[in-house]
Amino acid sequence: MHGAETAAPTLSAVRHWVFDMDGTLTVAVHDFAAIRHALQIAAEEDILGHIAALPDAPAQAKRAWLLDHERALAEDALPAPGAVKLLHALAADGCRLGILTRNDHALAKLTLEAIGVGGLFDDADIVGRDEAVPKPSPDGLQQHLRRWGIAAGEAVMVGDHAYDLECGRAAGTHTVLVNLPENPWPGRADWHFADCRALLAAWQQKG
Ligand SMILES: [Mg+2]
Repeated sequence: MHGAETAAPTLSAVRHWVFDMDGTLTVAVHDFAAIRHALQIAAEEDILGHIAALPDAPAQAKRAWLLDHERALAEDALPAPGAVKLLHALAADGCRLGILTRNDHALAKLTLEAIGVGGLFDDADIVGRDEAVPKPSPDGLQQHLRRWGIAAGEAVMVGDHAYDLECGRAAGTHTVLVNLPENPWPGRADWHFADCRALLAAWQQKG
């Protein structure tokens, strides 16, 4: 189940791939409602935005709690269907791979190691919440583009959330949505696949 929604180039022509991590390359385990409850953050509020707006002491306390909570999730991370195969296939084909996550940089590395793809990413190509303005800001994605010395149209942003697609749109890259059976944001994704397995199958068609 996939379909190109804009006049993007074929997927196999894309050589620069930036992935969201949690819920895209891993099975989604973050219970954001529980995190908001534990940190006393309102349902409609952005978690990282809430913490960033606090004075130093409570911000540090909430940041520390979140880090501890996410460390446990990272250690137990499981790969999303097809994600490991997809990453190895892209790397073997010489594609550049990057991560753009609202998670912490060190925990992102821990997570990628846990699912067996840590060796596929240069440290500088993993951009976490302390290295960039968090998505949906295009800041982190633009950092990848600058580091790789490419135009936005040469890259694709792959994710499972509206933030990932909005980030890609704002930076001007192509966008891929995975891991949702239906696409709730049809105008924002150039391609939609059930999972990374379907994405790999489409990429391998070299269409
Ligand atoms: Mg995600």
